[in-house]
Amino acid sequence: MRPPDQIKITTPHMGNLHLLLDDLFGRLGVEYIKPPKSSTKTLELGIKHGPEFACLPLKINLGNFIQALDKGANTIAMAGGHGPCRFGYYGIVEERILRDLGYEFDFMMLEPFSDGAWAFYRSFASLSAGLSIRRLWKILKVSFAKGRAFDQLRKRALMVRAYEANCGDTRRALKQAEKMLAAAVTAAEIEAAARESLGLIESVDQERERDVLKVGIVGEFYLLLEPFSNFDLEDILGNMGVYLERCVWVTDWIAPRRDNKIFGFPKRMIEEKAAPFLSHNVGGEGRETIGNTVLFAERGFDGVIQLLPFGCMPENIAASILPMLQQKHDIPVLTLTFDEQTGRAGMVTRLEAFVDLLWARRNGGAVSAIEGAKMQNREPETLCHECKAKAV
Ligand code: SF4
Repeated sequence: MRPPDQIKITTPHMGNLHLLLDDLFGRLGVEYIKPPKSSTKTLELGIKHGPEFACLPLKINLGNFIQALDKGANTIAMAGGHGPCRFGYYGIVEERILRDLGYEFDFMMLEPFSDGAWAFYRSFASLSAGLSIRRLWKILKVSFAKGRAFDQLRKRALMVRAYEANCGDTRRALKQAEKMLAAAVTAAEIEAAARESLGLIESVDQERERDVLKVGIVGEFYLLLEPFSNFDLEDILGNMGVYLERCVWVTDWIAPRRDNKIFGFPKRMIEEKAAPFLSHNVGGEGRETIGNTVLFAERGFDGVIQLLPFGCMPENIAASILPMLQQKHDIPVLTLTFDEQTGRAGMVTRLEAFVDLLWARRNGGAVSAIEGAKMQNREPETLCHECKAKAV
């Protein structure tokens, strides 16, 4: 590993993870080269150099690394892990591919905290000269508080958008709120900024009496966290006026205790919900997909959408169990599979059909706003709530 003052570190791009890492590496005094936002170019690079049979997240990650190395990064940090799914050796495969392509860099595998606090500490110690355990702990605490506040903003925005009176208000408020939070440095400033920025989201003009569908999103963590990989599905559904809750959040996923502070339901509880259908860990979020679907059904949600990367073993196991669960809990579940061949238009059509089905269940078969919009040859995805209402 090169000396700390020469390190230019990068990571995969995954949702708003870069906001947390920007803060964390800043506190550690390490230069962070943010990978450019994932794009078609990123995916093309991953497809070109990655193994064909690898799951979609590996290919996008590989593209992220190539773009960041080209931007000047010289150190890659990648999360490690262990079976049963292939995620644990992603890092090793990616490192080899990049070296074969001629890139020179240091590679840092961050094993989960639960695998040993000492190994976890040592990885960070190599980034910052004289870093004590005590100081690392303090830094992590403050950065995580900020990361959680970022997650909280997005979570709230997902809920509020379904009720917004004017199309786009929530998106604009979220942008402003994240900017405000990013500027906070000390623990006290972060606490105050978290409150104030959340207030910006809450102050969006809303029509709370509006009847909205409630949909839960479950599935593989990367697809849930990275909008590029799922064609910004939350935006599409939000613009259809659907109230959304997602069960995986960045800080819940990387926090050592996995007590799901943002989602609000601890992992142990999810595992208990899954137990009648799936009682052991199958890797990735397979068991969580089952447990969370049960939980959404019990909480009265209208439907659930599962996001599945093509070839993902844990989510395929979950997908094979979901039909039984749907029957038992009487909740419609839509499984969407993603790989590099998946097209946005096809996915939007399936989402529209699913939303129509959920409205029909609610209204005893009445024509929905989306269906009405379609009958008028209008693009439902781009309609604001007012236009949707008029379209029926
Ligand atoms: S959970 Fe699925 S998509 Fe994610 S790394 Fe494991 S096998 Fe691949």
